[in-house]
Amino acid sequence: MTDTALREHMCLLAKSLFDRGLTHGSTGNISARTEDGGLLVSPTGTSFGRLDPARLSRFDASGVPVSGDPPTKEMPLHTAFYDTRSTAGAVVHLHACHSVALSMMPDADADDFLPALTPYAIMQLGRVKLLPFFLPGDPAMGGAVRGLAGKRSAVMLANHGPVVAGKDIEAACNAVEELENTARLALLTRGTAARGLTDAQVRSVVTTFDVEWDT
Ligand code: ZN
Repeated sequence: MTDTALREHMCLLAKSLFDRGLTHGSTGNISARTEDGGLLVSPTGTSFGRLDPARLSRFDASGVPVSGDPPTKEMPLHTAFYDTRSTAGAVVHLHACHSVALSMMPDADADDFLPALTPYAIMQLGRVKLLPFFLPGDPAMGGAVRGLAGKRSAVMLANHGPVVAGKDIEAACNAVEELENTARLALLTRGTAARGLTDAQVRSVVTTFDVEWDT
């Protein structure tokens, strides 16, 4: 995809997320690998509803900023995924309501944040790691992602929001939507006798769709 097409695609998908309330105000940030090995990143302080393709922060393949507005202050989160996962072509971070609510539950499982409710969350996200609370912009968030050594494509920052890497911008956006939707299902069914997937069903999804699960 050309630089121009990628810029427009990023802004279109960000606006779609914003328009459906998946992130709000000036929250959320998005980045994608360019054909030349560089990065396009949403600028700091911008709203997903009004990103300007021409003003995205542009980095070259060595990570040097070459044009556009200054990038999001959550940049260390993005570079942590690119540096540890060679398959990462895009990273999306949202402040999404239901996943944040689920992260506050006292029984949240830090190693397997999302309950196994539907196959698509398993297929698109693998096991989601719940990371502790960090102050906004704390570079230690990036350090925590690096500590996972590339073994997870999706993390949940407690009391903050999800961060998901995908092979491209479309895959990353689809996966973060799946995370938020599953968190919503988990809250809707919380305290009920709803049946999630059995261990055997989870195993079957993992095997059939070759999911990164046991790493
Ligand atoms: Zn954030």
